[in-house]
Amino acid sequence: MPGKIIDGKQIADFILVRVRTEVAEFKKKGVVPKLVVIQVGDDPGSTIYVNRKKKTCLELGMDSEVKRFPVSITYEDLLNEIKKLNADRKVHGILVQLPLPEHLNHKKVLETVDPAKDVDGLHPYNQGKNLLGKECFQPATPRGIVTLLESVIPELEGKNVVVIGRSNIVGKPIAVMLLNRGCTVTICHSKTKELSDFTTRADILISAVGKPKLVKADMVKKGAVVIDVGISRLDNGKLAGDVDFDEVIKKASWITPVPKGVGPMTIASLMENTIKACRDIEWPGK
Ligand code: NAD
Repeated sequence: MPGKIIDGKQIADFILVRVRTEVAEFKKKGVVPKLVVIQVGDDPGSTIYVNRKKKTCLELGMDSEVKRFPVSITYEDLLNEIKKLNADRKVHGILVQLPLPEHLNHKKVLETVDPAKDVDGLHPYNQGKNLLGKECFQPATPRGIVTLLESVIPELEGKNVVVIGRSNIVGKPIAVMLLNRGCTVTICHSKTKELSDFTTRADILISAVGKPKLVKADMVKKGAVVIDVGISRLDNGKLAGDVDFDEVIKKASWITPVPKGVGPMTIASLMENTIKACRDIEWPGK
């Protein structure tokens, strides 16, 4: 029997209904949750992503602003802009859209965001707390993946997980979050030899690489849950994940599609994080 599709769009919509209700509660008390997204340069892919984030905020009744700066902005000027947002009482969440141009030290830029407004969960303070399993802003995509997994697997503890990709945004944090839930986690990456030796043992296989059809059916254990994080634009203009979906669905028990899998969950988790920032800032201790 072919696997079932995990409908990320439907689960994300469900989360957004809850967020909308919370936004309304804040507004009744005169507080408007606000997310500011910083974009440097005009990369078309980044522009689509930042506009989508702003649009979702506005649809939920939040306030949102995209601050666009030219590629020529200096490192000092960008840090000063972030510091102004840190100090702005009306701003609850700050997100720096990556990648940044090379002359801007992206690690230092991310470290300049106030950890209390770091809704993307990329500040070392939040990454460290995530590692320790403490309450913090978790990066949006891994947070969304955990929600997807919990929707189809009643008990994560003891599961054998293989993550392909070791970025600070997806691969490492999702590995840590599942480790903290009692999974046995293996991280594979570009230097891994014989990838399929690892992937064929996975109860849960998560691919976050950005290479279409990297994961083929013979690399997947029968009955595995397969989460496809990758997004690539094909020559025909269509989006593709890392997984050979049509073949792998025949072996998997559950699988996420691209689009409408992990992508909508990333946005929904970002909105949840923005609400958390608003709650923590406006009503500390609640
Ligand atoms: P990245 O480029 O920072 O990391 C890619 C990782 O893949 C690296 O760790 C690298 O070692 C590994 N890799 C490269 N080639 C490999 C190979 N042949 N075999 C095994 N590992 C290999 O990318 P990222 O920011 O982690 O994003 C990964 C993908 O996920 C991209 O396609 C990105 O667009 C997508 N993404 C999607 C969402 C979403 O919301 N759906 C969010 C973030 C990223």
